[in-house]
Order: sequence, then structure tokens, then C-alpha cells
Amino acid sequence: MLNGERKIARPFRWAMVGGGRTGQVGYKHRLGALRDNTAFQLVAGAFDIDAARGKDFGENIGVSPERCYSDYKTLFAEEAKRPDGIEVVSIATPNGTHYEICKAALHAGLHVICEKPLFFTTAQVQEIKSLAKEKGKIIGVTYGFSGSQILLQARHMIANGDLGDIRIVNLRYSHGFSAAESAEKYSDAAKWRVDPKIAGPSFIIGDISTHTYYISELLLPHMKIEKLLCDRQSFIKSRSPLEDNAHMLMHYDNGAVGTAWFSAVDTGYMGSQTVRIVGSKASIEFHDYNPNELLYQVQGQPYQTLHRGMDYLDASALEDERLGALHTEGLSESWANIYLKFAIAMDAKNRGDEDFLKNFIYPGIDAGLEGVRWIENCVRSADQGAVWVDFK
Ligand code: NAD
Repeated sequence: MLNGERKIARPFRWAMVGGGRTGQVGYKHRLGALRDNTAFQLVAGAFDIDAARGKDFGENIGVSPERCYSDYKTLFAEEAKRPDGIEVVSIATPNGTHYEICKAALHAGLHVICEKPLFFTTAQVQEIKSLAKEKGKIIGVTYGFSGSQILLQARHMIANGDLGDIRIVNLRYSHGFSAAESAEKYSDAAKWRVDPKIAGPSFIIGDISTHTYYISELLLPHMKIEKLLCDRQSFIKSRSPLEDNAHMLMHYDNGAVGTAWFSAVDTGYMGSQTVRIVGSKASIEFHDYNPNELLYQVQGQPYQTLHRGMDYLDASALEDERLGALHTEGLSESWANIYLKFAIAMDAKNRGDEDFLKNFIYPGIDAGLEGVRWIENCVRSADQGAVWVDFK
């Protein structure tokens, strides 16, 4: 159980690039990082592409005026001169900026926490992975939904054989916020998401499917996709060549099959993500609008609902418990769990404890790499006319 007491010697001095007043995701980073006062302290930032607005915002949330910088290059250079300079930076800017900022941060000697999708290509991720290794730094990727403890219960039950042989994987993350073209007219965040120069090779695949794909990897670490077919299209034609809707079929190396649906034009739907894993003995189902529960369905028996925080769960699913059973946890706690894990991983890295890191589960550079690999394979299949491709 977590109660905010320190897990590492002292909090990391932390900065943000992006995530300012106009950013959609910035507050989630701060909710996550600052939930445990003992893990991170926000001491600096270049919060906005608009320097004046970024400085005003930084001061407004309590950062010293002289440490609210006009851009990330100045942030890294000036902080490097201070004895109490930053040790880690979070990147919460549009996709097309991640690679350059991440590279600059590593060269400045910082650990990095970066938004998904990490970069545009797996080649870029491999390059940054090597650089991070050379510099002895951690890269965390904010698959922010994946910190719900009940997912570790699901992972445990699958590993324990409670479901039998895994046969079917069913992933879905859909919403209707871009059902109309006007979404782009009223929101800068919606506009850049359909511009390949900023969003990368995909819209909805990179934007939301990477979250659900990572959850499937977390639950099924023993299974790898061998072949994949992706069909993507844009119902709003101006978004082409990027897609606002995509379906995938997957073949896994253990004989299991999968289907996935990701959409920004699922008009009226507010259910967010669902992950259903079907085995030969039982199935489980996770809905991220209620991360306090896991459905467990054994053939021939009444449905069971496993509740977060209860003693009957595996120890791995109780370690990150914060509020106790009965009291609802949600996305904020999930982000806090992820951020605490980043802090623990960075601390272990600084101490050279590679043995610990080998077995420590958190969304790091390899999770970011697999997310970009997933996007690349989906796009390659779709752009050849929705054909089966080897997953590579
Ligand atoms: P957004 O357009 O709402 O905000 C981007 C912010 O970055 C803006 O405030 C902008 O001023 C700032 N910015 C842009 N370039 C900058 C630069 N060079 N230096 C400093 N600030 C800069 O975008 P968003 O929806 O917050 O998405 C940002 C990133 O987060 C994207 O990569 C997106 O995929 C990801 N995201 C992740 C989640 C999640 O759950 N993990 C949720 C939403 C978005």
C-alpha cells in the first residue's frame, strides 16, 4: 500500500517542456508526478510554444520566475549551470517535437519522461535508446492508463493459467470527439493530430491505440504478434492520408488471434478503452472507465467481478494501492503510479542497480519502441491495401 512516504532518497528536481495553459495533457503529468511529494518537485519549465504565456503559466503554478524559460534549449542550458539544476524533464508537446527535445535532454544529462507516440520511426527510437544507454538515463513513456493496479491482477491471472490457453485478444479504444470535421476548426490539438508533419504517419493509431496496445503487452508479456492486418480510413476526407478509424487483425506466436478497433469517429461513444482476453478456461475484461474492477468469467459459472484493493487479489495488484478498497481510484492514481515507477527506475539507474531494473515493470523505452513498431506495422499493412504483413 502506498501512503506517500518516500520510496527514494529524495525527490527528483523536475521540469516540463510543453503541458502549459493550452496543453491537454500537462495537468495529468503534474497530477501524476506531484501526487507523491517524495518523488518529484516541479522546479522549472518551458511550458509553452508561446514564451510569454509559458512564463506566465509557470509562475501561476508556483515555479520561480527565473526558472520559467522561453524554450527548451534555454531551459537545458541554464539549468545545467545551476548546482540545483533539473535532473529529469517531461516532454508533453506534439508528437513531431519529441525526438529533438528528447535527444537534447539526454545530451544535457537528464532522465526523460516522454509522451506517446514516442517518435515517428523505430529507427529514431533505437537511436535514442542507444543514447540513453550511453548516458545512463531512463526514458519513461506516459502510457497513463496502464498504472491501474487491477491490470497487474489480470497479468497475474493470465501468467497463473487461470484463463487456460489464451485464444482471443480483443482491444478497443474509441470515441466520437472527431466525428465532425469542425473538431479541427475549434481545437489546435485536434488540428495538429491530422497533420502528418506534426502527428507522424498516423492519427488515431498513434494517438490512442498505442495505449491499449501497451496494456495488451502488459497483460500478455509471453505473446508476440507474428502477423497483422490493418485497414485504416478517414471518414472526414480532409484528414487523409491519416486515418480517423482503424481495424486490425492479429495472429500471435502461440496461435492466438486478435481483433482491435480504434476510432475518433465512434459517434456518441464514451466508453474509452476495453481489453478482453479469452482463454480456454475463462475470460477477463477490463474497462478503463472503471479501473476499480476486473470482470472474470469462467465457462459455466456466474460472472465474477474482482474489486481493487481486496485481499483476495495477488500481492502485485495490491502494492500500488493508495485509497483502500471501496474508495474509488481512477486515472489520477494510475498516472501517479506510473510516475512513481519512473522515479524508482531513475533512482535505481543512478545507483547502477541494473539487476533491479531488469525485473521492474514500468513503461520504459522498450514500451515506447513497441508502440512505434505497432504503428509502423499497422501503417505498412493499411497502405498496401489492408493486407497481412509479417510483424517486424
Ligand atoms: P496540445 O496541442 O493540447 O498541447 C501541446 C502543448 O505543447 C501546447 O501547450 C503548446 O504550447 C506546447 N508546445 C508545443 N511545442 C512546444 C515547444 N517546442 N516547447 C514548449 N512547448 C511547446 O497537445 P496535447 O493533447 O497535450 O498532446 C501533447 C502530447 O501528449 C502528444 O504527443 C499527445 O500524443 C500526448 N498525449 C498523451 C495523452 C496520454 O494519456 N498519455 C493524452 C493526451 C495527449
